Amino acid sequence: MRVPMIAGNWKMNTTVGEAVGLVNEMRSRLDKIDNVDKVICPPFISLAAVGELIKGSSIKLGAQNIYFEERGAYTGEISPLMLADLCQFVIIGHSERRQYFNETGDIINKKIQAVLRVGLKPILCIGERLEENEAGRTEEVITEQLNLSLAGIDSLGGLIIAYEPVWAIGTGKAATGKQANNTIGFIRQTISQKYGKRIAQDLRILYGGSVTADNIAEFINQPEIDGALVGGASLKATEFLSIVKQTSEIKGCLSREA
Ligand code: PEP
Repeated sequence: MRVPMIAGNWKMNTTVGEAVGLVNEMRSRLDKIDNVDKVICPPFISLAAVGELIKGSSIKLGAQNIYFEERGAYTGEISPLMLADLCQFVIIGHSERRQYFNETGDIINKKIQAVLRVGLKPILCIGERLEENEAGRTEEVITEQLNLSLAGIDSLGGLIIAYEPVWAIGTGKAATGKQANNTIGFIRQTISQKYGKRIAQDLRILYGGSVTADNIAEFINQPEIDGALVGGASLKATEFLSIVKQTSEIKGCLSREA
């Protein structure tokens, strides 16, 4: 059984004080929700403070990016080594990084290798743009992104994939549960061809793109979808708690029925 996961990507939001406030608002209620991995990904500067606040709880911490070198003259960058004792997960290849910071498949591949090397778990984001979706090229784009991101990687470690159609991120226009389930099924099949059935069956694949407390159930009820990467809605304590709680309840029921 794959443990469902809800990860909150706070993006470039919250000062350290605001991050601490947000965690304080939800920590004790979030901690009590079982059967789902709860991950929050604040900006780098808040990782240490948030890490202290959630110490001893069931809440896990992730970063939003890294640089692939271990150390050296890379002004302004953060290495996986620096994160290894601060958090457990790192988001890699988010479409905003591909779009605004020119991250290529090769860079994403190096970042994944660097993250795996220090025992952190990458959350690899992949997804097609609107024009690619409309041209019926979703599977082709996904296949290329997977091939480039995972080139030369023999063992996936604790890798998680987030399928995030670019047209659904921050737009309020989510995919449908069925659409997301089909593409995630395709991703699992592609991983199965590359790494074998067992690895593919154990791999957690999340949906991301305008997930809210009102639509999470539609995604979580799908058999291939193991959770969500949540942007905007993860900045509101009540809404994030509701997303996590619904995930725990729905996946709990589905696993009892199975
Ligand atoms: C994201 O940042 O990964 C994301 C899915 O954002 P949003 O939920 O705001 O669409």
